[in-house]
Amino acid sequence: MKFLLAAGLIVIVAVAAIFALGEQTGLRMAPAVQTIGAATPVTVEIANPHGVRRVSARLEQNGAQYPVYQETAPAHRLFWSRHQPVRRITFEAGKNKAPGLKEGKAQLVVEAVSNDLRAATNTAAFDLNVILTLPRAVPDEAQHYINQGGMELVTFTPSGSWSEAGVKVGKYTFRSFPLPGRPDQRFSMFAYPWDLAADITPLVYARNQAGTEATAHFWFKLFPKKFRVRDFPVDEALLDKLVNSVDPTGTLAPGPDTLARFLKINGEMRRKNNQQLADLRLKTEEKILWNGPFIHYGKEESMFADVRNYIYKGKAVDQQVHLGFDLSDVQNAPVNAANDGRVVWASDLGIYGNCVVLDHGYALQSIYGHLNRIDVKVGDMVKKGGPMGVAGSTGLAGGVHVHFSMQVDGVQVNPREWWDEHWIKDRILSKLEPGSAGKPSATRAESAASPPRRATGRSRSSRRQR
Ligand SMILES: [Zn+2]
Repeated sequence: MKFLLAAGLIVIVAVAAIFALGEQTGLRMAPAVQTIGAATPVTVEIANPHGVRRVSARLEQNGAQYPVYQETAPAHRLFWSRHQPVRRITFEAGKNKAPGLKEGKAQLVVEAVSNDLRAATNTAAFDLNVILTLPRAVPDEAQHYINQGGMELVTFTPSGSWSEAGVKVGKYTFRSFPLPGRPDQRFSMFAYPWDLAADITPLVYARNQAGTEATAHFWFKLFPKKFRVRDFPVDEALLDKLVNSVDPTGTLAPGPDTLARFLKINGEMRRKNNQQLADLRLKTEEKILWNGPFIHYGKEESMFADVRNYIYKGKAVDQQVHLGFDLSDVQNAPVNAANDGRVVWASDLGIYGNCVVLDHGYALQSIYGHLNRIDVKVGDMVKKGGPMGVAGSTGLAGGVHVHFSMQVDGVQVNPREWWDEHWIKDRILSKLEPGSAGKPSATRAESAASPPRRATGRSRSSRRQR
């Protein structure tokens, strides 16, 4: 009897121990996927301190089951670990692995067996939508002449199932908007960014919620541009002035070495400030706020995408690309809006000093830097030629000038095109007119290599000579 009691006790203790040693497995989709198509990547996080010895995933729909993932790890029953990290497994779920799958609702069921004596099975089920209709994007048949560093507009018709559509140029993606007056069509203003090689093919694309993407080519001709390379000498006095103008309290770029502080501002801070400008792309209205060519103020001292080699004590200490035009001005002269627009930024912006950014609609924006004083505030509508403040040399500016630049969907482009009435008509407005989509454009427009000039008072023939 004593023996039986002892044996029973041992069994109870052993069973309790096994259960105490068993762990629940946490199963989580990360990121959450709600829609699948032909082969949609799904990532599942598996959390169990003992690890798991088996993972499987299947799609379920109308009582049918389709295995989409299976993995078995060798079990270590005696020396299991108690500190297994969270595992992430990625597999494809969709029609390719589940031939009977139809559009509509489905479930992804994931099962994991813990790698311990208890070998508990945990199951998680995720509701999904199946979309099998493919997206499609058909571009216009217009001729698209593009200046490297400049921009262009393409119209296209997305169809099938799509939730996102626009233009891709290398690593860059540009949004699209509904084409006014043509509800079935969309348009994208896109850049051919200055930092891309001259052999990239822009594509229109449409993507559905399942991540299935369609792309299409359109006719284009790129005009490659050579960007200038210039030496930018800096001495101790100038470094001191620049560094103290941007960071007078020594908190942004601290340290005893002026050159080191300057390099931090010129590199790290420049990148951060350019990102802040790019992030303004979402503060836009879905309509054209501008009216006619943008006004060109002042004399050009630096040009868009100039490469600057910073020379200090005879040595090149830094290289940066200048994304904009430096337009000469005099202290406290009014700084005027180049076109109608709404103020989306009106405060300090690091290297750009006191800075104003105007939104002109459809993610087209203009940037004005180094102002001595700002007289507008975010939300204000400003008229073309209207005053926004006065010129100065705040931020990273050696002397008084206005740093002027433009961006489309957060990518800075050569503003020269927008100073050119003819370019605007050919490359932008003609494609937005009702009935123009798909018609080949008869004219060519290459403007970014032309010298600056006022937007008014020039003849058509002179424009053709460039
Ligand atoms: Zn500048």
